[in-house]
Amino acid sequence: MNAAPQPSQSAALEHFWMPYTNNIAFKRSPKMIASAQGMYYTTVEGKKVLDGLATLWCVNAGHCRPKIVEAIRKQAGVLDYASSFSVGHPLPFEVARRIAELAPEDMDHVFFVNSGSEAVDTALKIALAYHRLKGSGTRTRLIGRERGYHGVNFGGISVGGVSANRKAYGVMLPGVDHLRHTHDPARSAFSRGQPAAGAEFADELENRIIPLHDASNIAAVIVEPVSGAGGVLIPPQGYLQRLRQICDKHGILLIFDEVITGYGRLGKPFASEYFGVTPDLITFAKGITSGTVPMAGVIVKRDIYDTFTQAAGSGVDFFHGYTYSGHPLASAAALATLDTYAEEGLLTRAQTLAADFENGVHSFKGLPHVIDCRNLGLIGAIEFAPRAGAPGARALEVFNQCWDRGVFVRPIGDNIAFCPPLIAEKKHLEEMFGVAMEVVRELK
Ligand code: PLP
Repeated sequence: MNAAPQPSQSAALEHFWMPYTNNIAFKRSPKMIASAQGMYYTTVEGKKVLDGLATLWCVNAGHCRPKIVEAIRKQAGVLDYASSFSVGHPLPFEVARRIAELAPEDMDHVFFVNSGSEAVDTALKIALAYHRLKGSGTRTRLIGRERGYHGVNFGGISVGGVSANRKAYGVMLPGVDHLRHTHDPARSAFSRGQPAAGAEFADELENRIIPLHDASNIAAVIVEPVSGAGGVLIPPQGYLQRLRQICDKHGILLIFDEVITGYGRLGKPFASEYFGVTPDLITFAKGITSGTVPMAGVIVKRDIYDTFTQAAGSGVDFFHGYTYSGHPLASAAALATLDTYAEEGLLTRAQTLAADFENGVHSFKGLPHVIDCRNLGLIGAIEFAPRAGAPGARALEVFNQCWDRGVFVRPIGDNIAFCPPLIAEKKHLEEMFGVAMEVVRELK
């Protein structure tokens, strides 16, 4: 019997329209992963590749951790799906309780969604509805920040400030304004940790945005405590504290988008604790299940939850939710992930590795084309001078070359980002930086 004709590789790959990808280039030369374990992928060709980005800033516990795998497997056979719309099942209640234990004091209620983008849009809706319930219905304006990344839904791209994510769509939420970004290479290039200069960037809220719109029209400010997908921008010392003070003074809610920084990236469960700044709402995603099953959410202060529930009478208190909010498989994965973090001390482990990581990031200083190195906790980036007429080309080359030599890092514009799983050991950091260094030395 004749074997069925095999489609050529490019035909076999044709039908999946890949996100954030040059589909033609990928399908011509696929980087295809077959399996993963701990710190490493294995490609379909059998090559090992070190995961230097926790894949998409999410695999904090490392890949295919037995406890998490087993919990998902088991849950699938016990309760595959139940909704959380007016009926429930125990797991998301327990996940929420565990998250409340890790979150800053008084931030003790959790609304579950499935992605960081949904978490952001949910947080923005909570902020708007909260003010209305409090009798401040004029507070409808949302303030984001240039170079902020808050996912890809309409709320997120409106308050976000990555122009490539906005320019093709035209329509945005009305009533949004942006703070300037905090990147200031003239004063702060090659800062180790938080830049000393730049707290005053927060004053723009009080000196420009509030006088322009009036605080009585502003609902919330949303920022990433450390911006990730916008190029890894570390907040200047005192900046987040100052934002908090100004928001407090003017009755504006402060939202921290902790989709990347949540669950140990800076050596504390949340960046809020690391910086000693408590926002009113925290969005999280990624690390809650170490990337295994989609889950995300919004943590809110008790007063916010009480405001909704007390106003509701006998009706629904928040007309919002997703079919898969609090999904059993995601909840089981989250509990096993939180157990793994606790058993292995992963939520504070970045503290022990931070100094070696910082030295690794800054070892690129002085290499050709490197114009900045930035780091905090276990997140960092090196920035290249753009090649004339081809912005982003250098970082893309570094990404491709590193992959070929067995290390996965992420290009963002002219930056290369590093964000390894929290189980990384010194030898993994050496491998990651060592390969990247070899590549950067050869960069034209
Ligand atoms: N917010 C931040 C800070 C992020 O970094 C991301 C994704 O990287 C998102 C939101 C969007 O998350 P998702 O891709 O799960 O929608």
